[in-house]
Amino acid sequence: MNPRNRITVVGGGLAGLTAAITGAESGAAVTLWEAHHTLGGRARTAEGAYRTNEGPHALYRRGPHWAWLKQRGLLGPLASPPAREGARFRFHHGGSLRATPPLGLLRLARRKAEHAPVDTDFMTWATALAGPAAARAAAHFAAVALFHHDPGSLSAAFVQERLRRAAALPPEARYPTGGWGELIDRMAGYAWNLGVRIETAVRIDTVPEDGPVIVATSMSAARRLLKDDGLRWTGGRTALLDIAVRGRRGDAFVVSDLDAPGWLERFTAQDPSLAPAGEQLVQGQVPVGPGESRADGVARAEHLLDLGFPGWRARTLWRRDSLATGRTGAVDPPGTTWRDRPRIDRGDGVYLAGDEVAAPGVLSEVSFNSGIEAASLAVRRLKQAEEAAGSRPSRPSRPGGTADPAGLDLKRA
Ligand SMILES: Cc1cc2nc3c(=O)[nH]c(=O)nc-3n(C[C@H](O)[C@H](O)[C@H](O)COP(=O)(O)OP(=O)(O)OC[C@H]3O[C@@H](n4cnc5c(N)ncnc54)[C@H](O)[C@@H]3O)c2cc1C
Repeated sequence: MNPRNRITVVGGGLAGLTAAITGAESGAAVTLWEAHHTLGGRARTAEGAYRTNEGPHALYRRGPHWAWLKQRGLLGPLASPPAREGARFRFHHGGSLRATPPLGLLRLARRKAEHAPVDTDFMTWATALAGPAAARAAAHFAAVALFHHDPGSLSAAFVQERLRRAAALPPEARYPTGGWGELIDRMAGYAWNLGVRIETAVRIDTVPEDGPVIVATSMSAARRLLKDDGLRWTGGRTALLDIAVRGRRGDAFVVSDLDAPGWLERFTAQDPSLAPAGEQLVQGQVPVGPGESRADGVARAEHLLDLGFPGWRARTLWRRDSLATGRTGAVDPPGTTWRDRPRIDRGDGVYLAGDEVAAPGVLSEVSFNSGIEAASLAVRRLKQAEEAAGSRPSRPSRPGGTADPAGLDLKRA
């Protein structure tokens, strides 16, 4: 491949890094531009005493990125849900905390996603199988992997895939030790060694017109960058509460809310390196509906803390809360699947990657899968342009494009 042919990747989160590595492994020259001063996007881990993750925590073992990262030696050290802590997995059901979920939820979770209909909402389908109480509990449990205030209203096939994977035994979830930032660092180092040019603290305001471009940003940023108002999909809105508390024997490991969507997890149970010795780091994730505020979500998370972490207020050493709107990936309403989301190939050598585009998978797996697909399409375009040009050195240009990479409209962030 002509070394002057270059793929541009906009965005240095999981999708952008996956795309950059895939392009470089195929022999293309790749430049990745990231607006923030560090890579990772939502997969960044906070600096300082409390290593909180805003976005991903769980890396699912049966997911596509597992094998891909492993093949490249990038998985690194991973923490498993500790067996002794598993005993402190609690369910908020019928107003109190319980050690076991309703049997109907477990029965539903065994059903294959392929057997759940796309056109029917989960509540209707699951109620017919297991009754309304089990259906509601199952929908709320699945919220841990879809972050929507009303999971039962979504496509049954979509919810069932998440329910099955979140409830799998033994658990599928693993946790990159030290937070996802460590995994991002390994991916960035790997990309660097492949020759990917990585530029941080540069916001791209105009799509470069020479060579294929992979826009690996959030959907809202892609909409602005590509000036395409059609780039939209349904997402969730979730209140996040991070707290560090002094450790106490008997604290819950997980509190899964089955009365309403919500989840608390003590992430230091599996990875003590996330907080100073003797302290426990807990994150609450509570999806909130259109009529609800961040404060409503935080109040529900605090109620779950009251139940699972007695005396937590007096033990709190640090806390912060936030609202994640449209940052938790795509959700599919009845009658739609991932195939109906904004397509990866935008035409004219522009490709989209991210967690709300037309690619399969759960949460960040969509970013990963779309990153690979976008890079494969970009590489194919470069090859076709090279073949069309015979042996002459060439740069594939979109109409009106410039062959000068310095023609990028860049703004130092
Ligand atoms: C609360 C929460 C919990 C989650 N839990 C999980 C989980 O347990 N497991 C899981 O797999 N996933 C989880 N996710 C989803 C996961 O975080 C995302 O799917 C994934 O991180 C998205 O990666 P991305 O690369 O597509 O997008 P991003 O991480 O958003 O990266 C996009 C990058 O593009 C950059 N950018 C934007 N505009 C420009 C521009 N104009 N020029 C240059 N750069 C630009 C941004 O700065 C950013 O770095 C969770 C998300 C949230 C919010």
